[in-house]
Amino acid sequence: MSFIETRGNENSRPSEVEFSDAMLNPSASYGGLYVPKEIPSLDLSEIDSWKDLSYIDLAKNVIKKLKLDISDEILDEALERYNHFDDKNDPVPVKKIDENLYCSELWHGPTRAFKDMALQPFGVILSRIAQARKENYIILAATSGDTGPAALSTFEGKDNVKVVCLYPDGGTSDVQRLQMTTMPKSNLKVLGIKGSFDDAQNALKSLLKDDEFKSFLSNHDTKLSAANSVNFGRIAFQIVYHFHSYLKLLKEGAIKSGEKIDLVVPSGNFGNALGAYYAKKMGVPIDCIGIASNDNNILTDLINDGVYDLNSKTLVPTISPAMDILKSSNVERVLFDKFGPQRTKELMEDLENTNKYQLTADELKSLREDFDATFSTEDEVRSAIQDFGKKDYVLEPHTATCIKSVKDNGKKTVIYSTAEWTKFSVSVINALDGTNKEMKDLEALQLINKEHGLSLPELVVEIFEKPENHLDIIEKTAIKEGIEKFIS
Ligand SMILES: *Cc1c(COP(=O)(O)O)cnc(C)c1O
Repeated sequence: MSFIETRGNENSRPSEVEFSDAMLNPSASYGGLYVPKEIPSLDLSEIDSWKDLSYIDLAKNVIKKLKLDISDEILDEALERYNHFDDKNDPVPVKKIDENLYCSELWHGPTRAFKDMALQPFGVILSRIAQARKENYIILAATSGDTGPAALSTFEGKDNVKVVCLYPDGGTSDVQRLQMTTMPKSNLKVLGIKGSFDDAQNALKSLLKDDEFKSFLSNHDTKLSAANSVNFGRIAFQIVYHFHSYLKLLKEGAIKSGEKIDLVVPSGNFGNALGAYYAKKMGVPIDCIGIASNDNNILTDLINDGVYDLNSKTLVPTISPAMDILKSSNVERVLFDKFGPQRTKELMEDLENTNKYQLTADELKSLREDFDATFSTEDEVRSAIQDFGKKDYVLEPHTATCIKSVKDNGKKTVIYSTAEWTKFSVSVINALDGTNKEMKDLEALQLINKEHGLSLPELVVEIFEKPENHLDIIEKTAIKEGIEKFIS
């Protein structure tokens, strides 16, 4: 399968590339993204025949349909990572949490958030391709708290790859910070920034355009790659668990073969939702993909009204920080799939030039054939956590934004849980108890354990005991220097 570019091609580079090239060098012409030339379409009978497979075997079948240029040996090694999730026999539990309502828990990996679903196999593949090509890569990642730990965890000790991770000092939960600062030093560098997530992200973006930095890298025989969610190497693995949702319900007898289900995805950069869209195109019986947002509800406007308008929005911090995003990158791949490269380029240029784009009535109609959208206010998020807490299921704030989107239409609905409650324990205990107390994560974790009877996973307890190896907190202006020092 070759990959093509969402905004068309400027002819100064090959118009079609292989997966491995798109993975190592994910930026396409005119600032676009790479997409598979064709999304394969499968028969229902073939999908149904995968019902009894293990998660790893299912993943192998789905990924193979994409015909990526990676060997079976590397793919097997990558998928083996799911054996290190909580339960080898069920790395992605799908639990019934209410009448007609199921929750797919995507956070049973090493860093307790759904980023592990894609980044665990991604790290194996990227490092193996780099080794085969005898090239050295540096991955620069800015994180608001979940991508950083997952990227560090997957690349730890891997050959031919170094990772620098920037996080906003004071902007993450204690658990998220410790997951980064307690990592070994080896090939990893973690830098706390005196500033916000946007400051960290902007600093990286300007580095990518910095000629002096580029020649520094080539003098050190190092190439730059990216592990953010626009990399198709991550998207591929995010298609699989939407197949798994349908098959799990089918296997349990909750639905009949071909019976359509609704999905609800807590969305930020739209990677998770894009995986659902591709799964639907490949033939999984999915009816509506609900896009859940928090107060940063630009996607709600797009899907309900066809308008994407940054001028009308200011980013507000919420208790679901991984969804505090206004420029949702992967939407572009849906626009491309529906409206083609020319129109996508036009819309994205409108966004760059006027901070806004608007779909036509027909385009909006087409988008709404697959998607629906709602957003939850902070109070609605807290109420959802409290309501489900009473039914003995503890949601964390990102997952809780899904609840409002669940329709009472008799269809089975699967919502996606994108993090374990342990990563956002202070918000969770306050929501469960209807309080608004300030406390450390450790205190909140112990309270939830004592009052609500949830056990604390060993992976979380142990990071409070590990030594912190990465203690640098630097000024925004010192980022380049910090990275260069690490590389040399
Ligand atoms: C990254 C993340 C999201 C958003 O996922 P996208 O694929 O960017 O839409 C939602 N919840 C949590 C906990 C996350 O870490």
